[in-house]
Amino acid sequence: MNLNFNMPVKLISGRSCIAENAGVFSRFGTKCLIVTGKSSAIKSGAIDDIKSALEQNDIKYEIFDEICENPYLQHCHECGTAAREFGADFIIGVGGGSPLDASKAAAIYAANPQMQAQEIYDMDWANPPLDLILAGTTAGTGSEVTAVSVLTDKTTGRKRAITHPDCYAKISFLDPKYTDTMPISVTISTALDALSHAVEGFLSPSCGEFADIFARKSIPIIWNALLCLEKSEFQLDENLRDELYYASIWAGFVLNSCGTAFPHPFGYILTEDFAIAHGRACAAFLPELVEYNLEKNPERAVELLELIDAPYTNFISVISGLADCGGISMTEEQILNYADRWENLKNFKNVYGGYSPEQGIALFKKLFLIKN
Ligand code: NAP
Ligand code: FE
Repeated sequence: MNLNFNMPVKLISGRSCIAENAGVFSRFGTKCLIVTGKSSAIKSGAIDDIKSALEQNDIKYEIFDEICENPYLQHCHECGTAAREFGADFIIGVGGGSPLDASKAAAIYAANPQMQAQEIYDMDWANPPLDLILAGTTAGTGSEVTAVSVLTDKTTGRKRAITHPDCYAKISFLDPKYTDTMPISVTISTALDALSHAVEGFLSPSCGEFADIFARKSIPIIWNALLCLEKSEFQLDENLRDELYYASIWAGFVLNSCGTAFPHPFGYILTEDFAIAHGRACAAFLPELVEYNLEKNPERAVELLELIDAPYTNFISVISGLADCGGISMTEEQILNYADRWENLKNFKNVYGGYSPEQGIALFKKLFLIKN
């Protein structure tokens, strides 16, 4: 029996959990840098709650709100420098997965003045990062509970994840209220991301008992939310928002425990070169993962379909419809260039029966090759 599990992040959850637990900030120091994107912290109301908690504790703060989607490591490096120059004792990351991941990197850069931006990928910095507190505003990445930070290198335009225990927050505030203001497109894409984490983990050979429990809990909730989202008149009530947000956290536990299969690295390509949002990009490859498992690992694939109480054809049509990547086309040369990145890709080993670059090439051709 595989009971491996690790969750060093203290979780504080519930609507208004920051206001109700404002005192916890006091033990992290007297100065902090808030790291966020242009709008999510404001629209969600998270910034007001955080400012008010900091003021109650006489903690001085500055705000770095330059983080874009699929954050550039170069921006994270600047952010780390800003934290150091301000003399921040700790960092608060607030927003979707992009600002949360950026704040993890910034906390590392801030504590390691000699480090160049790219050196973060070597994962051997000298000093431990500044303490980190997170507040998520999307129901998707689960970054609140993962040791992962996904960064884009501006010089190459390529996304790459680092996974390191120093990327864990000390505390994550899980307030689903902040997700109420997500536009529908962001709600759909982030829900697809959460589903991908849970499904890729559920079908992974490394899925242990705990990950299995969390995947079983999250998958039906996210699936049902996606069925609602399919309908254009869709409005999420508070209850559904709460459920979807917590399900994204359970899916984050699964990701953290099992890693991802090929939908994630393949999805990075659609984001980098075709500007497809992360969740939609990964979900575009989920039908192939399930179909592959129906052949290689049929019992588990059938269990997955039982969890969502839908046949495979239904799964394909809902996911492909919401991922909506049908308009993408690629030349054969382009596809072969992408395949250069798939030699020794560890995600291929995270699939029952293994997966190969050749299978990846065949899949990309099936989905995206330009038809003459
Ligand atoms: P995001 O890139 O953080 O945000 C997407 C958009 O939604 C942005 O325009 C953002 O606005 C807006 N937004 C966010 N919350 C909002 C709210 N409550 N109300 C209104 N607008 C809101 O999206 P994400 O999908 O959460 O994060 C994707 C990133 O996370 C990718 O880089 C992906 O690779 C990474 N990721 C990380 C992990 C992990 O374990 N660390 C796992 C999966 C994915 P602003 O930008 O203006 O703030
Ligand atoms: Fe993801």
